[in-house]
Amino acid sequence: MDLSQYQTFRVAACDLNGRMRGKRVPGSYAEKLAKGAVRMPFSASNVDIFGLDIEDSPLVFETGDADGVLLPTDRGPVPLPWLDQDQPLVPMALHYDDGTPFEGDPRHALAAVIERYAARGWKVIAATELEFTLVDDSADALSPVKDPATGREIEVADVLSIAQLDMFDPFLSELYAACADMDIPVQTATCESGLGQFEFTLNHQGAMRAADDTWLFKRLIRRVARNHGFAATFMAKPFANDAGNGMHMHFSVLDADGHNVFDNGGDEGSETLHYAIAGCLAAMRDSTLIFAPHANSYDRLVPGAHAPTAICWAYENRTAAVRVPGGTPKARRIEHRVAGGDTNPYLTFAAVLGAAMNGIEDATLPPAPIEGNSYDLDLPQLAEDWDMAIALFEGSDAMARVFHADLIRNLALTKRQEMRLMSERPVDEHWKIYLETV
Ligand code: GLU
Ligand code: MG
Repeated sequence: MDLSQYQTFRVAACDLNGRMRGKRVPGSYAEKLAKGAVRMPFSASNVDIFGLDIEDSPLVFETGDADGVLLPTDRGPVPLPWLDQDQPLVPMALHYDDGTPFEGDPRHALAAVIERYAARGWKVIAATELEFTLVDDSADALSPVKDPATGREIEVADVLSIAQLDMFDPFLSELYAACADMDIPVQTATCESGLGQFEFTLNHQGAMRAADDTWLFKRLIRRVARNHGFAATFMAKPFANDAGNGMHMHFSVLDADGHNVFDNGGDEGSETLHYAIAGCLAAMRDSTLIFAPHANSYDRLVPGAHAPTAICWAYENRTAAVRVPGGTPKARRIEHRVAGGDTNPYLTFAAVLGAAMNGIEDATLPPAPIEGNSYDLDLPQLAEDWDMAIALFEGSDAMARVFHADLIRNLALTKRQEMRLMSERPVDEHWKIYLETV
C-alpha cells in the first residue's frame, strides 16, 4: 500500500485497555514514518478507560510526561472500510528514541513472551473466538438489539439460529467483506446463546498476527454495527441475566520441523502439553486481572454461565477454564476460556502464553483433569473481585516472569484509578463507560 497517495492516514498503538491511541497524519508522512516522525507520550499507553492520565503515574510528572516514538509494526497498513474517506491505519508500537521497545506497550509485552518460544526454535499458532452482543443504546437503560426489519424486540436468543443470521445478514455480510479488505482470516459466524449475541472465529495463525487481527477485528465490528443503526459491545456481561461475552483463545506450538509439540499421536497429548496446562493453572488466579480487567468483567465470572470460575482443566469439557479439544492429534491444542470479550488481546495472549511457558520451563505436571460439571466441584477459584485481582496481579511471582515490572506497576495504577472513578458511578450506568471502549 502506497500511503503517500492518501490525503491522510491514521497511526495508532494499543493502550493497556486495548484501545487505539494515535493520530491522523498527512500522506506526506509516509516516508518518514519508519524514521520516527510520529511521537506520542509514553503515558498515553496507560491512560485509564476514560482516557485520563493516571494521577500518581511516574510516567506523567516524574519524567515530565516524555514522548516516545511510534514505529510501524509488521502488521503493516490496513484499510478501514467503515470510514467515508479512504484513510488507512498503520498499526504502531511505542519505542524509546534509540529504537528499543517501550516495556509498557502491550504489544511489546506479547513480543517478549513469543521470544521465549522462539529461543527454543518454536512458533506459537493461535486463534480467537470473539463473542459480542448487539444492543440498543438509544435510551437511558441498555436493551437488547431490536429486529432491524420490524423494530420489535427479539423474544428468544435462539442459539445457532439461521433465522437470526438472516435477520442481521447485511451487517454480517459487510463484516465478511471488510475482513477480506483488511486481510483478517474470519471463519464462522454463529448466533450465540444470549439475546442479540453473536460469535466470530478467526483462523489459526502466528500468535502476534492473531492478536493484531483480534484487536483490529473488535474495532471493525463496533464501527460497522454503528453503520447499521445499533451498537456492538464486547462488555463481558452487558445484561446481568443473559450470557456474557468471552474471548476464548486456542493455541498450539510448532517446533523447528513444524511438528506440534502438544501432539504425542494420541488423545491425551504430550508431556509438554501437560506442562503448559500446569503453567496456565498455576498463574490463573494471579492473572485474573488480565482476563477480567473491568468492574463489569466480574459479573460474567459466575457459576453456570459457561464462563469459568474454577481453576481446572479437562478434555472436551466447556465448564473447565482450560479445555483440550478433541479431534485429530495433529491439532492437539489448548483452549483457554477465561478471558472476557472486554480484554486487551495482546495482554491476554501474553498472560496465557507466558504462563504456559513458565510451566514448560518448570516441567511441572497439572492436577488430574476434571470430569463433569466444574461448578459442582470443590476447586481453587479465580480472584473473587476486581480489588483482589489487582493485588494478586501486582504481587505475583508468575506474572513477574511474564510482564516487565513497569507494565505491572502501570496496569495496577490504571486499574486502581478506574476502580475509584467507577465506584463513584451507579452500577447500572457503568455500561455508558464500557459499551464501546472495551
Ligand atoms: N459466553 C461464554 C463465555 O462467557 C462462552 C460460551 C461458549 O462456550 O461459547 O465465555
Ligand atoms: Mg461461544
